[in-house]
Amino acid sequence: MTAVWGHLFHRQRLFPTPTGRHALWYFLERIDLQAGDEVLIAAYNFYVIVRLVVQKGLVPVFVDIDPETLCLDSQDLAQKVTDRSRLVIVTHMFGNPANMTEIGAICRQHELLLFEDCAHGVGTLWETEQVGQAGDGALFSFGVEKLINTFGGGMLVLSDRLAAGYSPPPHPVSKLTSFVDTFARCIRSVLTAPRLYGWTLYPATRLGEWTLPQLREWIIPAKDDPDYRFVNRSRAPFKPFMKQMQTLQLARLVENIARRRDIIQQIKTGLSHIAEIRFLDEDKHGRSNGSYFGLYVPDPAALTRHLARHGIGSNPQEYYDCAALAQFSAYRPPCLHAGYASDHLLRLPSYPWLRPAEIEHIGTTIGAFFGHG
Ligand SMILES: *Cc1c(COP(=O)(O)O)cnc(C)c1O
Repeated sequence: MTAVWGHLFHRQRLFPTPTGRHALWYFLERIDLQAGDEVLIAAYNFYVIVRLVVQKGLVPVFVDIDPETLCLDSQDLAQKVTDRSRLVIVTHMFGNPANMTEIGAICRQHELLLFEDCAHGVGTLWETEQVGQAGDGALFSFGVEKLINTFGGGMLVLSDRLAAGYSPPPHPVSKLTSFVDTFARCIRSVLTAPRLYGWTLYPATRLGEWTLPQLREWIIPAKDDPDYRFVNRSRAPFKPFMKQMQTLQLARLVENIARRRDIIQQIKTGLSHIAEIRFLDEDKHGRSNGSYFGLYVPDPAALTRHLARHGIGSNPQEYYDCAALAQFSAYRPPCLHAGYASDHLLRLPSYPWLRPAEIEHIGTTIGAFFGHG
């Protein structure tokens, strides 16, 4: 892992893992908290991450987000620390860097462990450094929907202190499980490729709405599955070919990020006169990698349908205010800004290969939806 990623990290040790969620699981095993210890975590999140915390017997304490970055709000964090708090999990949501200066200070003050979820954060900079090195550990994901996609795979980052004498547990799975899992991801990656979306995925999901809910579920897994439980052995191990794919994709990362950022800027400029739209401040605490492009709009579902009719794939409700989900109802109350993001955030394409005409088409189609011809 160091050969591929070492140039981005200064002091940490890097370990390959079967998926990003395995990296968090291994971290939780490494730090060995007591049942009932509290984990402070942003409410606007991927429910799987919260599920892992609960499954480990820990208590998630939901912290609201800064609506401009979608990341943990440091003021709300400071208010929610108790004497049972042990760990803070910060997600660099949408590839936007969180306020690590203040969050780091709060962790030091209260002697809390700090873990960064960098699933969206390859190439994201806090100040001038790759995110994932501010605390005790971090996870990276190379799953099908991530900026660097190797059909699965992840990485655990550990501080020197936690890495001393550590090696990740063995991951013995059958050859069949390994093959089927990787192959399924490969197929899903092809089916969800944005260029093919209009021809494969979109009709399949529309068909699925009427006839084949299982198909739709497999292609786009539910973003809130109350029955989800982490099963260590259900995933393929990290495979050597993943390192090669990472090396190839890393070689283009800087260019890829610059292009994405430029596309986002162009679309934002084109939409700046529309009063109904609110933008994020992606670079508030460093430099976003542009991997996700989010906008606040009054009715994301209606805009998604409008965009789909014009051949543009977008994604409303990708993440949720986990504090408002039925599966975490024991850990309420919900959080104001996280709830707003759940209801009003829409994710637009920012693929580096978008052509000028396509970028313009996205802007004018959204403009037309809001009655600006
Ligand atoms: C994808 C993702 C993960 C986990 O990655 P896997 O490799 O799918 O386990 C964690 N956090 C966030 C925010 C993600 O989007």
